[in-house]
Amino acid sequence: MEQQYRLRFAPSPTGPLHIGGARSALFNYLLAKKNGGTFIVRMEDTDLERSSKESEENIKDSLRWLGMDWDEGIDVGGDYGPYRQMERLDIYNAAVRRLLEEGKAYYCFCSEEELAREKEEQQARGEVPKYGGKCRAIPLAEAEKRVAAGEKAVIRFRVPEGETVVVDDLVRGKVSFDTDGIGDFIIVKSDGIPVYNFAVVLDDHTMGITHVIRGEEHLSNTPRQLVLYDALGYEKPKFAHISLILGRDNEGKLTKMSKRHGSTSVVAYKEQGYLPEAIDNFLALLGWAPGGEEELFTLDELEQAFSLEHVSKSPAVFDLEKLKWINGMYIRGASGERLLEYGLPFLKKAGLVSAEPTADEMIWAMTVIDVLKTHISCFAELPELIEKYRAAVVYDDDVLASLKDCKEDALAVLRAMKEKLERNPKVTVDSYKKMLKEISKETGIKGRNLYHSLRVAKTGEEQGPDLDKLSVIIGRDLMLERLKKFIKMFQRMD
Ligand code: GLU
Repeated sequence: MEQQYRLRFAPSPTGPLHIGGARSALFNYLLAKKNGGTFIVRMEDTDLERSSKESEENIKDSLRWLGMDWDEGIDVGGDYGPYRQMERLDIYNAAVRRLLEEGKAYYCFCSEEELAREKEEQQARGEVPKYGGKCRAIPLAEAEKRVAAGEKAVIRFRVPEGETVVVDDLVRGKVSFDTDGIGDFIIVKSDGIPVYNFAVVLDDHTMGITHVIRGEEHLSNTPRQLVLYDALGYEKPKFAHISLILGRDNEGKLTKMSKRHGSTSVVAYKEQGYLPEAIDNFLALLGWAPGGEEELFTLDELEQAFSLEHVSKSPAVFDLEKLKWINGMYIRGASGERLLEYGLPFLKKAGLVSAEPTADEMIWAMTVIDVLKTHISCFAELPELIEKYRAAVVYDDDVLASLKDCKEDALAVLRAMKEKLERNPKVTVDSYKKMLKEISKETGIKGRNLYHSLRVAKTGEEQGPDLDKLSVIIGRDLMLERLKKFIKMFQRMD
C-alpha cells in the first residue's frame, strides 16, 4: 500500500508566528500536499507561563493568511485529538505509568541545589554535565510512597548506556549521537506536566505522523526522542531538520536571524503590505532550491514542485531585498481588486482617503495604486511615494532649458490647462485626457510640445510615470497651484 503522508506543525503559543516557524509550517504543508497527505496543526502549550491565547490566535491567523489551511488539528478537529498538549495529559500519564512500571523511567528527588552542585563539579572536571544517576536505584514502590507523602519529584527517563543513536535525517544524512552523552533526562516535571521531548513523541506517535520537518535547532532533541520511541516500542517517523535562517548584519557578518535583521514575525510583514503569496514564495526559497532559473512560485506551484531532495543543509540567508523583489513582482501581477484590498488601508492610515472612502476617493485610490504599483515593493511605501509627488517641486535649470526652444507653445498649453482646471473642480484620468485633447485642438499644438511642458511644470522632471495618472495623484488643486507659479516664473525667463 502506498504510504500515507501525515505531517504536522506543532508551535508553542508563546509569541507570534515568526519567519522560522512559518517556514517549518510551509515545508510540512508542502510535503503533505504534494503527496496527497494530511497537514495537521497542534499546539505545544505546556509552558503555562509563556503560552497565551493571543499567541495561538496570532499563529492561526498568520497560517491562514499565508494560505496554509490545515486538514486536521485545533479548531478544525479530527480523529486524533485533542490537539493541545494540555488537553492530552491523560495520554502522557498512561505512557509514563508504563515506563515507570517497566523500569524505563524513575522518580528523582534531587533538589535544584544538589543538581546545580553536581553540574559545577562536572564542569570543573572538564566533563559534559549530565545527571549523575543518584535516584536511579530507588525502587518504584518506595518512590511512590515518598511522592504520596508529599515529597517533590520529577520523572526521569533511564537512557540506555553505551549505545549509539543514529538520526537518519532526510536533509542532513546520518547523524550519530552517543547515549552516554545524553544523561537521564526529565520527562515529567514536578508539577506533573510533561516536557517537550516526551510529549512530542506521544503526539507524533498517536497522531500517526509520518514525517517530522523542523528547524535544525531541534536536531539535538531528536536522539532523546528516538530513545523514547524505542523504549515505548513505537515505530519512528522520518525526520528532516532544516537549516537555521541567518541574517546579515551591517558589517556583512552572518548570524542567527533576529530582530536586528528585520521584522521576524509574519504579522509584521502583513502590516507592511506584503502579499501572502510573496511571503510563501520567499519562505520556500529559504532552504529549498527549485533547481532551475525560475524563482517565482505560487503556493499551488510550490505544492507541485517542492521536494525534500532539493532542501539544502547549508544555512539559509534571510535577504530582505530579495523579499522586496518577490513582493514587487507579485504586486505587479495582482488584479486591480486585490491591489485595492491591500493598498487602500495604507491610504486610509495616511489620511489620503477617508475611513469610509467616497466613490471619488475610491477612483482616486485605484488610479494611484495602478500607476504606482510598478514603483513599490510593498504597500507601506505607497503613501510615501504619493507624498513625494506632492512635495514642493524644484525646477532645475537643465530641465527648464529643455523647454526654451518651445517657449511659446509651452506657455499656450500651460495657460490653457490652467483655465480648464479652474473650471473643473475634479480631475480623473478620463477628464484629464479630454482636457488635453481639447487643448490640442484649440491651440493646434501636438506631441512633445504639448506633453513636455505639462510634465515639467507639474513634476519638475523630464520623465516619469504616465502623466494622465500622475495628474490624478497630484490632484487638481496642487496641479493648478503649480501651473500658476510655473507660468509666472517661466514667462519672465529669456
Ligand atoms: N514546539 C516546538 C517548536 O515550536 C516544536 C518542535 C517540533 O516540531 O517538534 O519549536
